[in-house]
Amino acid sequence: MRIPTELTKIADGLHAWLPDGAGRWGLANCALISSEDEALLVDTPYTNEMTVALAEAAGRAMPAGATITRIVNTHPNGDHTFGNAYFTGAEIISTDQNLERLCSEPTPQQTAALVHHTAPDEPLGWYAREHFGGYDYTGLEVVPPTRTFSGEHILKVGSTEVRLFEAGPAHTAGDLMVHLPDQGVVLAGDVLFVDDHPVHWQGPLAGVISACEKLLSLRPEVIVPGHGPVVGPDAVRSYMAYLRELEGLVHDGYARGLSAYEAASEILAAGFHAHLGIPERIVILASVEYRHLGGDGTTAPPTVELFGGAARWAYEQSRLGVPG
Ligand SMILES: [Zn+2]
Repeated sequence: MRIPTELTKIADGLHAWLPDGAGRWGLANCALISSEDEALLVDTPYTNEMTVALAEAAGRAMPAGATITRIVNTHPNGDHTFGNAYFTGAEIISTDQNLERLCSEPTPQQTAALVHHTAPDEPLGWYAREHFGGYDYTGLEVVPPTRTFSGEHILKVGSTEVRLFEAGPAHTAGDLMVHLPDQGVVLAGDVLFVDDHPVHWQGPLAGVISACEKLLSLRPEVIVPGHGPVVGPDAVRSYMAYLRELEGLVHDGYARGLSAYEAASEILAAGFHAHLGIPERIVILASVEYRHLGGDGTTAPPTVELFGGAARWAYEQSRLGVPG
């Protein structure tokens, strides 16, 4: 696994930590906003090893004398929050919904158990080992947000204006995005994936599309996704077209009485955007969408249950000798 040792400058006072996460779970982007003697981190990495690498790189990128005293979590998934504990005493800002839903996220210990204490020849155990076996969860502890808001929250980092706005329910129930109006940049969190199929735990897909509409209404020139390379607004438009296409296919499967798994398998067999990585995420997206179509969309199904469906599809493909 290649962990970046330096941050990439995106704009004045804004750097991003961009691990090459294509085709992999757990490698998320983080961003550093720094000005004068203040610094704020948007999201923290998945493991202690990555968090140390990010903190050291941040130390070289920010103005002399600045320290990271605030963290923003775009949503509660571990690959954006498990590094919180490293920044002792930092204020951790997120939405009310993110704080509430943090309790239903798999903890580092539960994820480690999934990797080490499941049957390796069953789909879920096999998948957990394939995708999460390379991460060390030892000693990781979940530190929740210490300051939460709903709607919008505006703050300053030195002289830089930072606008946080709630964009969910979309990827999760309480996603937030970070808008830097003077820099023309939006940090989109996991509402936006680039180069891989996205995964959305809360949905529906229409919610993700409207979050993208909100993003584009700010007319940013640069968008940092939760996973994948930095892009411009055209990539967000293409992504919205992808989501609309998928929404149509899943709704069609539902109308024809297929199960979510059958609908996803059919969509994948037809080669839906086959150049993108982690195709089994379509099984998760279809399952989440089906819950909304069935009138049970307010609560997201347990993450592990959703993983189970994706694991089943990937496992079947691997037995067929199809590269996953
Ligand atoms: Zn993520």
